[in-house]
Amino acid sequence: MHGRVTSTEQLTPGMVRVVLGGGDLERLEMPHATDAYVNVAFRPAAASYDQVFDPKAVRETAPQEEWPARRRYTVRSWDAETRELVVDFVVHADEGVASRWALTAQPGDVLVFEGPSGDYRPTPAADWHLLVGDESALPAIAASLEAMTSGERAVVRVVCDGPAHQVDLSTRADLDLEWLHRHGDERDASLLLAAVEALDFGEGTPFGFVHGEADEIRAIRRHLLTERGMTRRDLSCSPYWRRTMTDEAWRRIKREYVAAMEAEAVTS
Ligand SMILES: Cc1cc2nc3c(=O)[nH]c(=O)nc-3n(C[C@H](O)[C@H](O)[C@H](O)COP(=O)(O)OP(=O)(O)OC[C@H]3O[C@@H](n4cnc5c(N)ncnc54)[C@H](O)[C@@H]3O)c2cc1C
Repeated sequence: MHGRVTSTEQLTPGMVRVVLGGGDLERLEMPHATDAYVNVAFRPAAASYDQVFDPKAVRETAPQEEWPARRRYTVRSWDAETRELVVDFVVHADEGVASRWALTAQPGDVLVFEGPSGDYRPTPAADWHLLVGDESALPAIAASLEAMTSGERAVVRVVCDGPAHQVDLSTRADLDLEWLHRHGDERDASLLLAAVEALDFGEGTPFGFVHGEADEIRAIRRHLLTERGMTRRDLSCSPYWRRTMTDEAWRRIKREYVAAMEAEAVTS
């Protein structure tokens, strides 16, 4: 599938919103999930194939150096009427194919992707919702909050670079939101864990959505399972990216990493 950039917006100093329309978005089928994501395929500039391409066919027929770079991005929103798809890209200081593409995206540019698919949607049956993550998880957290109804309760902890990096979040749920600001040193990796450890869980068991940097979410998952009496059924946990690794390097070890993470603190 593909869409064409209709507009871009610098949401914060570290996040660019890209709105896509046209292309063949007419036939996009959106899953009933608030963490739905697409597998984007970024064509190398020197590739011999067209701007609009079939990623599977290219991988089968083109030389490996021409294969597109793959990255996963959350569907921040999808308008079924206008067939517009919104994706919010973290534009991090480290070089990255996707980050760079978003920073320079212009109206008319093509974005090729496969999907979307997704798993999580906040269930009103949960006693309360715990949503924890960094900027890469913000699109899913924002979409999840928008899907909640009045009477639900959401506790949200998000880490970002500072007040200018915060975005407006809207929800009908009763919201307890705290932004954590990085210091730019080694303390940053444990800010989210410390914030979750400090929470008073009170009555009931939350459903937890914990997504973001691999080691950060792994530590939080361990805490929730071993010290908060939560079970794996109460959790949606996904290591979206790994500090110091490109997505290519991360994907090479991700399966093993996730298997080791899943084997930890097995309660049920
Ligand atoms: C299911 C899923 C949904 C996702 N949804 C989103 C989304 O909606 N928005 C979004 O921005 N990201 C999202 N991500 C994360 C995104 O795919 C990765 O951050 C990806 O590595 C970015 O690619 P890149 O080409 O910019 O950088 P890469 O080439 O992969 O990495 C280059 C360098 O940048 C660092 N880096 C990568 N990502 C980040 C980051 N987020 N913050 C700081 N440094 C980073 C790497 O560690 C590396 O050192 C999602 C990931 C998954 C698995």
